[in-house]
Amino acid sequence: MAAQEVRTDVCIVGAGPAGMVLALLLLRSGVRVAVVERSRTHQREFRGEILQPGAMALLDDLGVLAGARARGALEHSRFRLVEQERVLLDIDYRALPGPHDHLLSIPQAHVLDELLLHCEKYEGFTWLSGFRVGGLVREGGRVAGVTADGPDGGRTVLAHCVVGADGRFSKVRRLAGIGAGRNDAFDLDVLWFKLSTDGAPPGGAAGRDVRVYRASGSPVLVYASWPDRLQIGWTLPHKGYRQAVAGGLEQLREQLAAAVPPYAGLIREQVTSLRDLSLLDVFSGRADRWADHGLVLIGDAAHTHSPIGAQGINLAVQDAVLLHPLLVSSLAAGDASREFLSAYERRRSPGIASAMRLQAVQSKAMLSTGRFATRVRPRLAAAVRHTPLHRAVLRRIAYGDPRIRIARECFR
Ligand SMILES: Cc1cc2nc3c(=O)[nH]c(=O)nc-3n(C[C@H](O)[C@H](O)[C@H](O)COP(=O)(O)OP(=O)(O)OC[C@H]3O[C@@H](n4cnc5c(N)ncnc54)[C@H](O)[C@@H]3O)c2cc1C
Repeated sequence: MAAQEVRTDVCIVGAGPAGMVLALLLLRSGVRVAVVERSRTHQREFRGEILQPGAMALLDDLGVLAGARARGALEHSRFRLVEQERVLLDIDYRALPGPHDHLLSIPQAHVLDELLLHCEKYEGFTWLSGFRVGGLVREGGRVAGVTADGPDGGRTVLAHCVVGADGRFSKVRRLAGIGAGRNDAFDLDVLWFKLSTDGAPPGGAAGRDVRVYRASGSPVLVYASWPDRLQIGWTLPHKGYRQAVAGGLEQLREQLAAAVPPYAGLIREQVTSLRDLSLLDVFSGRADRWADHGLVLIGDAAHTHSPIGAQGINLAVQDAVLLHPLLVSSLAAGDASREFLSAYERRRSPGIASAMRLQAVQSKAMLSTGRFATRVRPRLAAAVRHTPLHRAVLRRIAYGDPRIRIARECFR
């Protein structure tokens, strides 16, 4: 059976934060958009849930933050690095101007469902959920669309421009023959699991924080998530999982309990099988290029970050906001050439390079386990705590590039 054809202005592959924010911005500008998403729901078990103030401000400006929060979210006031009993690093988000003076732990589904609700109000929106992109349509040397398979057969989506917003293992990027630029230096494995606190979320609103523990061995990321869960990510050296499980479940559980002593009881009670743990391969990278004739890559598909600084969503949302006016002009000019679309890469590259440098420093500062680093870390943390550098780092982590604003002048 021949695939049904869909004609649109912009075809976005992937309904993550980057794809959905871009879709809504374009729809509000009178552009027809098709979003092709392989999964049928936005339930994402092991995805980042921490929103930085920069992403919150942009989502607020788009009119979706309040609705997303109303579906359930928790505020965290600080980011802390705790070694043994000592707090080495204490980043207080309350020092930022309100109303976005905190970190928000919010299931990605709450944000994405709210974005979808807004997109569905526009006639020009085509939602292809449950459709996996498997090919690119090429016409005269440019990308002119995608082919996708779904529950009721195939679709060919033809568009002025295709946007690959399909995440860190981007199929669109691979189909376009663009290298992922994976940076092996920051490879980590993370053993991720959730604990139930049965009822109220742990920690009062004032005291809640996102925390990296360095009690023994590998550092552990811990935060309370809605409604009454603790999310725990135990970092391991890349491919270190086999060694970690070699001694069996009992030994692994004791290692985890020793790594986060306050939750040792819950770990012993609730981690009863290796199936309770998810192994995630975490890496960073920057695709060789972000634009081609008829094609742009954004979000994790263009640049992937380690989850350590909780930057991925911030950067993905900012990518969409920056690309939006360029795509509106590209449509108006009838020009989706690589030269035209590369303006996005030129404008965005310095911000991404700077975020990557900062994350490399953060990773080293938080995760390195050598004796020198362990001795120097507390002194260094104490020395910078009250300096302008500390405030500059906070602003950079919280906002990314604060100059990126929604191009309201494009809205109809
Ligand atoms: C363990 C972990 C924890 C993290 N924690 C945080 C955090 O706390 N805060 C933070 O800001 N960031 C965090 N991140 C990073 C964050 O999740 C990503 O940076 C962010 O989701 C990127 O958004 P995106 O829209 O570019 O891609 P994604 O969110 O990955 O969305 C891509 C979408 O494309 C779809 N797709 C893929 N292939 C196809 C295909 N062939 N056809 C159709 N659809 C397809 C996928 O189903 C998915 O919905 C974390 C990442 C990891 C791995």
